Amino acid sequence: MRFDVVVVGGGTAGCILAARLSENADRAVCLIEAGPDYGPLADGKWPHEIVDGSRMPWTHDWGSGGEDSSSLGARIMGGCSAHNACVVLKGSPADYDEWGEAWAYEHFSPYLDLARTGLRTAQRNTDRPGVFYEAVVEAAVAAGYSRLTDADDPSEPVGITPCPVNMVERTRWNAAFAYLDPARGRANLSIVDRTLVDRVVFDGSRAVGVRTSDGRRFDADMVVLTAGAYFSPAILCRSGIGPEAELARHGIGIVAALPVGERLLDHCGTSVRWELSSDLQRELERHERDHELYEFHLVLKAASSRCARGTWDLHVLPYADRDPESGGWEAGAIFFHMKPLSTGRVRLRSTDPTDLPIVERGFLTRTEDLATLLEALEIVRTLATKDPLSPLVETELRPGDVDPEHHIRETISGYFHPAGTCAIGEVVDADCHVHGIEGLLVADASIMPTIPRANTNLTTAAIAERIAADLA
Ligand SMILES: Cc1cc2nc3c(=O)[nH]c(=O)nc-3n(C[C@H](O)[C@H](O)[C@H](O)COP(=O)(O)OP(=O)(O)OC[C@H]3O[C@@H](n4cnc5c(N)ncnc54)[C@H](O)[C@@H]3O)c2cc1C
Repeated sequence: MRFDVVVVGGGTAGCILAARLSENADRAVCLIEAGPDYGPLADGKWPHEIVDGSRMPWTHDWGSGGEDSSSLGARIMGGCSAHNACVVLKGSPADYDEWGEAWAYEHFSPYLDLARTGLRTAQRNTDRPGVFYEAVVEAAVAAGYSRLTDADDPSEPVGITPCPVNMVERTRWNAAFAYLDPARGRANLSIVDRTLVDRVVFDGSRAVGVRTSDGRRFDADMVVLTAGAYFSPAILCRSGIGPEAELARHGIGIVAALPVGERLLDHCGTSVRWELSSDLQRELERHERDHELYEFHLVLKAASSRCARGTWDLHVLPYADRDPESGGWEAGAIFFHMKPLSTGRVRLRSTDPTDLPIVERGFLTRTEDLATLLEALEIVRTLATKDPLSPLVETELRPGDVDPEHHIRETISGYFHPAGTCAIGEVVDADCHVHGIEGLLVADASIMPTIPRANTNLTTAAIAERIAADLA
C-alpha cells in the first residue's frame, strides 16, 4: 500500500492531521490507529461511556507501563480526547514564547483559537453547578481570589472560573467527532484501525513508510508520528532513533542518536478529601436526582510564592462525587503543580511493539516542586475555612493528621498530561521534522519542549493545526 502521508496514531493530533492533510484531494493520506474506530458518531456505534462527557471512562485504556498504576492513555480512535475530562484551557503566553520564535504566542495563538473552535468549546459544562461548587466559588472569593470572566485572559492570570469544555450537550466532542467525521467520506483518506505500528522503515536516512506488528508495510513519502508522548518515542526507538546506550541495550541498529524519551514532562499533584456535612450530602443527593453532576466543573488558578509574576503555577479542582466503593458521597479538591521542574523518562521495555514502554515519572525529583505543592495544600485548607464552604465541610479526612510532606510524597500522581519526550530542539526541529531524517515528523504532545500551565489537549490540537498548515 502506498500513500503520500501515513499518520501514526489516531489521537488528538492524529485525527486533526489526517483530516487537514486530506483536504487536498490530490494527497493520499492513511491514518493508522492501534485501537478500535467506531465510525461516524451519527452511526451510533460508539460506546456510551466514551460519548458521555460527564465522567471519565477507563474502558479503552493501554494500561500502565510505569512505576505506578497510572494509565498510559486511551487506545481508541480519538486517543486521549476520547476519554478525557474535556477541559479546554490555554497556557500563558510565556509558556509558548519559551518554545522559541517559531512557536511564540504571537504566532501560535491563532492555532490555539482555531483548535478551540474546532473542538466546539463551550464556556462551561453546566449552568446548574449546585450548592457545593457555588460554595467553593464564594469561599475562593472570600480568600481573595477574583471570579474570572475569561478563563484564558492573560491579564487575569489568577482566580476561579468554570472550566471551558469541548462538550456538545453532554457529548465529549473528541477529536474523531470534531475533525475525522467531516473527512471520513473522502476517497483520498484511508482509516486503518486495530493496527499497531511497530517501526518506521528507512531508505538510508529517509523515512519511506511504516511496518505494523502483523508484518504489513505501508509505504509513504512522509510519515507523521502522532502516537502521543509515551508511544511516539517508543516507535522512534524501535526504529533506531533514540539514545545510543538505550538502542545498544536492545541491540537496535542506530539510524540517528537523539535524546528521545529522555525528558518526560507532566503536571503533578494530589488531593485533599473532606468529610461532608449531612446537609451537603442531602443537597448532592437532590442535585444528582434533578440535574447533572459533572466530574469537573471549576478550576482555581493560583500562584505560589515561586511563580513568575503575571502568571500562575497551580490548579485547584474541587470535586464532589460518589465514592465508587461505599456508594456514599465524597468531596475535596485535587491540586496540581502546573510548572514543575522535575522530569521523568520513557524507555523501551523490549523491541516487542506489544510491550508497553517503561515510564519513570520522576515526580518531586526537584525539591522546589514539593515546596510549591505544600503551598497548594495550604490554599485548599484556607478555602475550607471560608464561608459558605466551611459549614459544609465537617473535617479533613485526608491528609488530616498525616504530615503534609508525607501525604504529598505518598500520593503524588500526574494530571494525565504527558509531554516533552520528542522535544523541539532536541529531537525535532522547529517545524517538527526529526533531526537528520528526511520525511519523518513528530507532531503530538511529545514535541512540547516545556509544559504549558494548562491541560494539554488544546495545545496538542493547536500543534497539529500548525503542522497541518505548514504541510498544506
Ligand atoms: C484520563 C485523561 C484525562 C485528560 N483530561 C484532559 C482534559 O480535561 N483537558 C485537556 O486539555 N487534556 C486532558 N488530557 C490530556 C489530553 O487528552 C492529551 O494531552 C492529548 O489527548 C494528547 O494528544 P496526542 O495526540 O499527543 O496523544 P493521544 O491522544 O494519546 O493519541 C495517541 C494515539 O496513538 C495511538 N497509538 C499509540 N501507539 C500506537 C502504535 N504503535 N500504533 C498505532 N497507534 C498507536 C493511541 O492508541 C492513541 O489513539 C487527559 C488525558 C487523560 C489520559
